[in-house]
Amino acid sequence: MPAHSEIDVRWTGMQSAALRLLAAVVVSAAALAGSRPASAAGSRQSVVEWSASTLENHFPISLTFRVHVKAEAEIVAATLYQGPRNTSSVERHDLPIASASELDLEYRWVTERTLAIPSTPIVYHWEVTLASGETVSSPEELAWYDDARFEWVVREFGNLSIWTHDRGDQLGARALVIASRALEEQEQLFNIRLEFPIRVIIYNTPEEFAAWHPSSTELIGGEAFPELGITTQIVSNRIGQESWLNEVLPHEISHLYFFQASYHALSAVPQWVDEGVAQYNEVGTDVLGLEQARLAALVGRYIPLRALAGGFGEDEGKFRLAYAESLSAVSYLIDAHGEAGLSRLLAAYKSGKPTAQAFPDALGVTVEEFEQQWLASLGVPEGMYPTPAPTATMLSIPAWKTALASGALTPSATAPPAPRPSPPATAETTGAGSPPTLYVCGVPMMIVAIAWANRMNKRPSPRRPTAS
Ligand SMILES: [Zn+2]
Repeated sequence: MPAHSEIDVRWTGMQSAALRLLAAVVVSAAALAGSRPASAAGSRQSVVEWSASTLENHFPISLTFRVHVKAEAEIVAATLYQGPRNTSSVERHDLPIASASELDLEYRWVTERTLAIPSTPIVYHWEVTLASGETVSSPEELAWYDDARFEWVVREFGNLSIWTHDRGDQLGARALVIASRALEEQEQLFNIRLEFPIRVIIYNTPEEFAAWHPSSTELIGGEAFPELGITTQIVSNRIGQESWLNEVLPHEISHLYFFQASYHALSAVPQWVDEGVAQYNEVGTDVLGLEQARLAALVGRYIPLRALAGGFGEDEGKFRLAYAESLSAVSYLIDAHGEAGLSRLLAAYKSGKPTAQAFPDALGVTVEEFEQQWLASLGVPEGMYPTPAPTATMLSIPAWKTALASGALTPSATAPPAPRPSPPATAETTGAGSPPTLYVCGVPMMIVAIAWANRMNKRPSPRRPTAS
């Protein structure tokens, strides 16, 4: 655990919004005069000169891309390709132009009413088609769609950066220490290093957060965007701030590691595992949450794990119970199988195995058997939960029926969807006559995970008391 004095705080300083409009653009040196003809090898390649691209940032409303292009022949078509880095999502925007050999190209990407994630790293390039049919692309460039509404102070330590605005020095400094410690500990737990830089963006109020997040609710205290290496969290200036930082920062960072350790396009890790591990990684133990899960199980009013695989819904009571059960089940998992067992499970998902195969391969039990053992560990008498039989209908168990009838249980078939933002809606194109934007999305664009706010009920306890 590094002491504060050991942290090498490097200030990148105040960044004004005006400066950001220009600074947000990172231009590769080759962009100034590069051309990338697509013509066949051996044939003469047309010379196309590109200026450095510029971006006009009006987060979260829009981001406008501009470039000047000059070709030795007439340009008859122009396109911008852009998408978030580290994803397979690419948007194609065909631009309305009048044919000419020299053009100013512009595309206004409208993100209003979509989920414009702050600091999204965007990879983009331009392409023109000449009268001969030859297409020439500009070099690929990278820009960050930063939240330019505020003047951010950025503190960096290695691959980690903490973004704060309009707060004293203390918040950013503490956040850097806590997040650095979380990275160090989770690197050991997950036994991996994060593959790309991590941005931890701290908002001061729910209103600042909700301004760019269309599905924000009062239950959301933070959200991670693992594919982008970004976490966002609300840290209000109030009593309990230190406690909340100790929860939300390790929690959201855990989602970044979890994603990298377990993601495979063909497998779907149950959300209760992800959220349970994230809470396990928080500083301290949510003893009240563990007790809530135990009591719910004892009276037969718990939510079965299979109903927590895809999302937690929006009902506040079930939402809180879902988190409590996730922590309880993952704590039991690590208690019974060790952190090595958790690593094996994540590796099984990472290799593309479904839950029906991942649990037996990693832990030697089916997920149904695991649930039985977890409930038994909580003191639930046999008969209060269904017996493990893959083909048995869980609804045939009397206690189960009773609980369902009372509304305490939510079968997975009717579980409400998780509050996951959808991929951005088809972006607008500028100018009449432009064809619809093509949105290519090979994988879910954003896998997000949330932390819920206002959980100031923890009592200090040794970290990972159940780890073996
Ligand atoms: Zn979470």
